[in-house]
Amino acid sequence: MHIDTITTVTSPELDWQQEALCAQTGADFFFPEPGSSVREAKRICGLCPIRSACLEYALDNDERFGVWGGLSEKERLALRRTSR
Ligand code: SF4
Repeated sequence: MHIDTITTVTSPELDWQQEALCAQTGADFFFPEPGSSVREAKRICGLCPIRSACLEYALDNDERFGVWGGLSEKERLALRRTSR
């Protein structure tokens, strides 16, 4: 979950987003330029209290870009493929 989404998507089902650590750091770490490191985003996700809910949201909504719930795009795609 990322700050832009947090500030634009509001509904009772998404209240968990208010605890998102990325809301405090900004979205840059979570949507790096192609080929850039996602290490810092993953480190922040590792400390985030809503990591599981974030990853579930990303998988349920087929989020294709950025780091969500500590996983990169490629890692989420691999997880989807293995969970079929
Ligand atoms: S798990 Fe990562 S991307 Fe998701 S809300 Fe937390 S800090 Fe943001």
